[in-house]
Amino acid sequence: MTKLDPTGHLAPYGVMAAAQTAHLFAALAQKGGTARYVGGIVRDALLARDLVDVDIACDLKPEISMAALEAAGIRVIPTGLQHGTITAIINDYSYEITTLRVDVTTDGRHADVAFTDNWLLDAKRRDFTFNAFYCDPDGTIYDPFDGETDLRAGRVRFIGVAEDRIAEDYLRILRFFRFFAHFGRPPLDAIGAEACRKGAAGLRDISSERIRDEMFKLLRAPRPAATIGDMVGFSVLPVILPELKNIPRLRIVEWLETTALADPAITIDPLRRMAALFASDKTGNDGIAHAAQFARSLRLSNDEIERFSLMTASFRLIDNVMDGKRIRRHLYHLGADAFRDAVIMAWADRAAMAGRPVPGENARWQDMLAVAQDWQAPQLPVKGRDILKAQLVPPGPMMGQLLRLAEEYWLENDMAPDHTALMAYMAEHIADHISTQKHTNPTQETK
Ligand code: ATP
Ligand code: MG
Repeated sequence: MTKLDPTGHLAPYGVMAAAQTAHLFAALAQKGGTARYVGGIVRDALLARDLVDVDIACDLKPEISMAALEAAGIRVIPTGLQHGTITAIINDYSYEITTLRVDVTTDGRHADVAFTDNWLLDAKRRDFTFNAFYCDPDGTIYDPFDGETDLRAGRVRFIGVAEDRIAEDYLRILRFFRFFAHFGRPPLDAIGAEACRKGAAGLRDISSERIRDEMFKLLRAPRPAATIGDMVGFSVLPVILPELKNIPRLRIVEWLETTALADPAITIDPLRRMAALFASDKTGNDGIAHAAQFARSLRLSNDEIERFSLMTASFRLIDNVMDGKRIRRHLYHLGADAFRDAVIMAWADRAAMAGRPVPGENARWQDMLAVAQDWQAPQLPVKGRDILKAQLVPPGPMMGQLLRLAEEYWLENDMAPDHTALMAYMAEHIADHISTQKHTNPTQETK
């Protein structure tokens, strides 16, 4: 059987109903090809979700599809020619078009593929029953493995023998849990979950980039903590990322992000969720170094590495009995975004320790976030050049020391002292703090 029988119909909407999409399908049809939506977009359409990425399966060879699209004035990128994948870009949408194919040989990470015109074979090489939907441009659905029943029941089920499918590509273990976090309803499919447990060691050979991308997609699910708990329970996460284990803390962060807080600046944030999950047996600077090394091993960007390691440490400076002055001091040092992260982490850490959010404390945490909402970063009203102009000290390291002294005085006084007051303060304290005690840390002196 090379053809699939129609099983249903949906009314195209969003990008599926856009003129540009019709133009793309028409270009492929011109060359005699059959092209259909496949995978995520059909799954999401059946659930009436927002449609973002467009995946298309097509029985034309990739070079032919590419020429057809270019001839129609569509920009195309040969993103994975050897696997039959090209990507068309029209306005803000990307269309990933993959030639029907079978995996001929697999080694757990890569596949050598052969192109085919057999739709059922293309369906069989896909991972889960609800990822093997096809849909014509007019909305006719093909569902060869009754994925719709599984989707509606919240069941993530491998196509074929789970263990074999995992051995072909161990990343499917993470995809199993990722799709469960987004679409699943407990219990987990027992056969699939057991196969994941058995195959988990194979994840060690999967590239950090693929693991990172899957983990981030998983952590974007509204409430992923229970699934992460399953990944620990089925000995999957400990094999690759043993540091990700503080599930109680993640549970509170997801509750804050999705339910408890109305602050528009606080939304689902996979990196913050990962920081909530991260638990190191090291403390202080060693703990920060461990967090940075963990983030680096996942090939995160430098900005992400910095934010991640800061989040795993900064929250320890925060508690819910700080007065306004201390709150503003932290806001000044961290900036509003990092302060928000620190408050959320501190709140979650405390609630996780207590076993649940402590009702009497929630309002205090919320007040702290409210301060961040209106925060306009103030500037220390003196600069190095003011010190030079007034000839308080010669150019050089003393200038920095003097500025830090002024800053500390300014923060201790809740940022009230103005330029004149700070100049006077510095002039008065040069002798005590700078010239005679070059090696003392002024911050500690004034406490
Ligand atoms: P999303 O785009 O929301 O992440 P998706 O299901 O579209 O989800 P993609 O990674 O875009 O996932 O892949 C598109 C389709 O390709 C999937 O629906 C599935 O049919 C197939 N697929 C992707 N990765 C694999 C894999 N590792 N093993 C088997 N099939 C896969
Ligand atoms: Mg997709």
